[in-house]
Amino acid sequence: MIIVLFGKPGAGKGTQAPLLASALDIPTLATGDTLRAAIRAGTPLGLEAKSFMDRGDLVPDSVILKIAAEELSKPAYATGVILDGVVRTVPQAEGLAKMLETLGGGRKVDAVLAFDIDNDEIVRRLSTRTVCEKCQTPYTGHAVGDTCEKCGGKLVRRKDDDPDAVRTRLSVYDEQTAPVLAWYQHAGNNVAVVNAVGSVADVTARALKALGK
Ligand code: AMP
Repeated sequence: MIIVLFGKPGAGKGTQAPLLASALDIPTLATGDTLRAAIRAGTPLGLEAKSFMDRGDLVPDSVILKIAAEELSKPAYATGVILDGVVRTVPQAEGLAKMLETLGGGRKVDAVLAFDIDNDEIVRRLSTRTVCEKCQTPYTGHAVGDTCEKCGGKLVRRKDDDPDAVRTRLSVYDEQTAPVLAWYQHAGNNVAVVNAVGSVADVTARALKALGK
C-alpha cells in the first residue's frame, strides 16, 4: 500500500506517519527527515538543501525525486510506504507516478490522506513545536522536559519554525503544494480529506477509517 500524507506544514504528518506505519505495518519515508539528517552529516545533499530549508522554501524537485528514487528502490519499501511530505509539487506527483510505474509490480499511489487544518491552528502549533534532534519525533506543547520520551534525545526548535519561515512555508504551500490535491483527484487517485484538529489518537483513528481500516 502506498499512501501519501498531504497537508500544510504543522498539519500533523510527522506525528501521524509513524502511528499509521505501525498500524499498517509498512515503513515511512519523510524527505524532511532525510534532508535534516544530510544537513547534520554535512553531506553535499545537506549543503545544497540547507539554505532552501532554513528560509522555508522548497528544495528543488530534482533533489526530492532523486531521494525518493534511491529510497523506494530498496527492498524495505517493497510492501508499501507512507510518504510523509514527499509530494509537495505537481512535478513531484508526476515524477513519483512515473517512478512507481518504472519500479513495476503495478505499484501506484493507493491513497492520499489530506490533513485539513486552518492557518491559525498551524501558527499556534508551530510556535510551540520542538523536535527530537536524534529521532525527529515532533512535540507540540505536550513535551515534558527537554528530552525525547522515545529515545532520550535533546528536543530542539526547528529553524524553519521561526515566524518568518512559517509565513513563507504557508504561502509556498498555497502556491505550489495545494494544487497537488487537484492533480491527484484528476488523475483518479483515491483522495480522502481528514480533519486534523483534535487529539493525536482521534486523528489516527480518522485516518485509518479513511483507509477502510
Ligand atoms: P518537513 O519536515 O516535511 O516539514 O520538511 C521541511 C523542509 O524540507 C521543507 O520546508 C522543505 O524545505 C524541505 N522539503 C521536505 N520535503 C520536501 C519536498 N517533497 N519538496 C521540497 N522540499 C521539501
